[in-house]
Amino acid sequence: MTTALNYHQKAYVCIHVFAEERPVLLVSRPDGDWCLLCGDEHVEDASEYRVVGLGHMVDQDASIEAALDLEFGWEAERSAGDHPWQKRPIPAEEPDRG
Ligand SMILES: [Zn+2]
Repeated sequence: MTTALNYHQKAYVCIHVFAEERPVLLVSRPDGDWCLLCGDEHVEDASEYRVVGLGHMVDQDASIEAALDLEFGWEAERSAGDHPWQKRPIPAEEPDRG
């Protein structure tokens, strides 16, 4: 590893990534916690996610490491497992004007 990555840093992964069914295509860091997701829709339910060590994910897929220099409030997305990461600030939720 080239970054000062805390191997045991907590990361939330979706069940698809956890089961190694799909590659990580979306990395986000909304408030300091890392989320590594397959990019598909997920139900907002704890049963859809698992908590793992961040270093374990990098061991599994070294290309993830290139996305792990995100600041708080940023996300990185790629369209396939061998594509470069596109980093951007996480879009703000549209305020409910209803
Ligand atoms: Zn998923």
